[in-house]
Amino acid sequence: MSKYDVAVIGSGPGGYVAAIRCAQLGMKTAIIEKYDVLGGTCLNVGCIPSKALLDSSHHYEDALKHFEDHGIEIPGDIKLNFKKMIERKAAVVDQTTKGIAFLMDKNKIDVFTGMGAFKDATHIEITNGEKTETIEATNTIIATGSKPASLPFIKLDKDRILTSTEALSLKEVPKHLVVIGGGVIGLELGQVYNRLGSEVSVVEYMDRIIPTMDSAQSKELMKVMKKQGVKFYVSHKVSAVSKKGKEVTVTATDKNDKEVTFKGDYCLVSVGRKPYTEGLKAENAGVKITERGMIDVNDHLQTNIKNIYAIGDVVRGAMLAHKASEEGVLVAEIIAGQKPHIDYNLIPGVVYTWPEVASVGKTEEQLKDAKIEYKSGQFPMRALGRSRASGDTDGFVKILSDKKTDEVLGVHMVGARVADLIAEAVTAMEFRASAEDIARMSHAHPTYAEAVKEAALAATDDRALHI
Ligand SMILES: Cc1cc2nc3c(=O)[nH]c(=O)nc-3n(C[C@H](O)[C@H](O)[C@H](O)COP(=O)(O)OP(=O)(O)OC[C@H]3O[C@@H](n4cnc5c(N)ncnc54)[C@H](O)[C@@H]3O)c2cc1C
Repeated sequence: MSKYDVAVIGSGPGGYVAAIRCAQLGMKTAIIEKYDVLGGTCLNVGCIPSKALLDSSHHYEDALKHFEDHGIEIPGDIKLNFKKMIERKAAVVDQTTKGIAFLMDKNKIDVFTGMGAFKDATHIEITNGEKTETIEATNTIIATGSKPASLPFIKLDKDRILTSTEALSLKEVPKHLVVIGGGVIGLELGQVYNRLGSEVSVVEYMDRIIPTMDSAQSKELMKVMKKQGVKFYVSHKVSAVSKKGKEVTVTATDKNDKEVTFKGDYCLVSVGRKPYTEGLKAENAGVKITERGMIDVNDHLQTNIKNIYAIGDVVRGAMLAHKASEEGVLVAEIIAGQKPHIDYNLIPGVVYTWPEVASVGKTEEQLKDAKIEYKSGQFPMRALGRSRASGDTDGFVKILSDKKTDEVLGVHMVGARVADLIAEAVTAMEFRASAEDIARMSHAHPTYAEAVKEAALAATDDRALHI
């Protein structure tokens, strides 16, 4: 029987990064993945394919609607080859997952393909079809991720009533896509199909979209996406979803208890994700699972069994790839006897719609609830030369800082490339910068980043220069 210092179950951004860090730290490491390809949700049916389709559909929309503004004329009709777009997405995924296989090889990590299940706290049985083998591991990291959640009355047929996984590989562009849930995944995929010509209706239970983000971001994104043609129905509680032939009917009640129906040819159910532990047989190792199906962990991401850890979507916290990866590194370093730390307040959240939405730290709502006195500085993208040059004038940067100390407490952005811009805010907050520190830093001109400096100036003393 093969023996390892560490076995990692699951090869998503949590698991594969944990395995690399363990190997870097000199531990004999194995990774177990039930699918033939490595990379988990993120690389196969999450972050990477959704971004590939967002980029492709953005080019298409630009060609259709914006090239002319730039003096670019295309003779003849612009045609969409949807099959090719999906094939390109698959090729991007393929290239990326092969990269993970290369990294496993480079770091001398043994890859086992098959379902990993605990026999006890130090033995894992791996089953692949008829073949079964058992390995011994001094430490195990559970990184089994998550699956799409649904509502109890919805029957996901995965043909017309879809999760994000199927929505990333459709054979045709929907005529009318009804999206249940105005969170990150619903909005990103809704925007993809809106650009490709679908009518898109987003039905959201809460009174605003992206409800966990700053409400100014919800408002701005909804305003811009409405302009782009997406229809929004907030404060609508979906009560039934049915399918007849090619028609899907979504029934909801609005805030006045009035019944509303939406008829489409496809329905995307994007109401969140749930932790995945099926088939893991955690009970054989004595590992505790919470009522909500998560693996229960302490601050060191250690389960109730001391040599078993868990990371990523299967434990509490934001379901984000970079959060999973940070946790993978943390656990590897803890096993190696180091004392690493993650500041969960500084894990940025991003929506890759266009305009993009990005946030770090506390929202205005959270500061109000916690009764923390703060100052707010906001700068609109439309006042930037860079935004006018590219034609991306929607959005803003908002900086919230402590009223007394000026320490930056939260940064919230909507606009072009803010998914990348948010890194400046994370760096500043990691070093506990004040708004004035950012305001005094030189920002290259012309860049979108100038909005960060200007918002910091506005927060410092209401002295933005260009508005
Ligand atoms: C459409 C979509 C878009 C997204 N976009 C983004 C984004 O832009 N940015 C971002 O940060 N996050 C994004 N996410 C979320 C991100 O994908 C997840 O947070 C991330 O993948 C979690 O990583 P993980 O390692 O915890 O688990 P996963 O990536 O889910 O990986 C878990 C792996 O474990 C395997 N596994 C499970 N059980 C077993 C077992 N018993 N034996 C062997 N293998 C097992 C699974 O097959 C899977 O490969 C997106 C998600 C979706 C669905």
